[in-house]
Amino acid sequence: MYKIAKENLSQLFRQIVQEQELYLPVKTAGQTNFAVWSEDAGVDLDTLKTVKSPKDVFFPQSENLYTVKKEGKKLHVEPEELKSQDFVIFGMKACDVKGVEVLDRVFLSDPIDTFYAARRNHGTIIALACHEPEESCFCKVFGVDAANPAADVAAWMIGEELYWKALTEKGESLTELVKDLLIDAEETKVVEEKEAIHNIVEKLPYMNLSLDGWGGDVLTEKFNSGLWEELYKPCLACGTCTFVCPTCQCYDIKDYTTANGVSRYRCWDSCMYSDFTMMAHGNNRTSQMQRFRQRFMHKLVYYPANNDGIYSCVGCGRCVEKCPASLNIVKVIKAFQKQGGEQ
Ligand code: SF4
Ligand code: SF4
Repeated sequence: MYKIAKENLSQLFRQIVQEQELYLPVKTAGQTNFAVWSEDAGVDLDTLKTVKSPKDVFFPQSENLYTVKKEGKKLHVEPEELKSQDFVIFGMKACDVKGVEVLDRVFLSDPIDTFYAARRNHGTIIALACHEPEESCFCKVFGVDAANPAADVAAWMIGEELYWKALTEKGESLTELVKDLLIDAEETKVVEEKEAIHNIVEKLPYMNLSLDGWGGDVLTEKFNSGLWEELYKPCLACGTCTFVCPTCQCYDIKDYTTANGVSRYRCWDSCMYSDFTMMAHGNNRTSQMQRFRQRFMHKLVYYPANNDGIYSCVGCGRCVEKCPASLNIVKVIKAFQKQGGEQ
């Protein structure tokens, strides 16, 4: 275990960027999101939750895949280069780290997504424990420990000091890179900090949320429930919930013409949109109720059915805070809970 004074963090960041790119929470126009570090970046380590999750460091909101160029009568395909430079993400929270595990099971399963895999191979995550979890958080319901982020390096901001513990080989390598700035530390304060975080978590309003009646075995029962017809009605189909979510992974692939040829790119999409997965014959889901049901069935039934019981929600609470119609996964789980999980 090591520590570094908060006032020396800029030095730490400078040392990292001598070798690698660095992403961390930056406040721009009043909103904090992960962005590349620079000397004049408005680093914001006090805001608990970034507006968007940091998933776009590994799964960008849009990215080119390849370009097709015409050379004489021949077409030449130029794939986009894979990430080849190491980088560090500083300040991810435990829920968002768990979100990456959810994405891994999708993008690193056969057939492996090489763009995502390259970023995962080159990225080192320094996660920051949540000093003060907020009322919209319910990560514990999904087995996430806000006090013990399972990343390459776990860190705790306690008063004016940051405590640092490497948990993986990547974390050890990064620690070596910045070791001259770190000093040896006892675990005592971190143990106290963890206890304080756990005490806050236990008192959060959604701690009693029960996942009884969900999981991979309840497909027909939950799919056919009449509750969806009531629950979906306020949904505006805006897609905000999917764009802020650390585990949503729907995307679209499109082509556009450039002066150089035709480029193919992919960008985030939303299962809440009426044209999502639109095909020549039309759309598989023809009503907003079906689209709304799909989002929650995927997180609470389909994903666990295919991934050893792991849910594809990590309880970050962003949808609770951001949905303009006050709809969210908590409301869905509670509605079924109220009906005894039998609807
Ligand atoms: S549930 Fe809320 S955030 Fe999601 S699409 Fe509907 S209105 Fe938008
Ligand atoms: S469904 Fe909501 S609470 Fe769950 S991970 Fe996504 S944004 Fe967070």
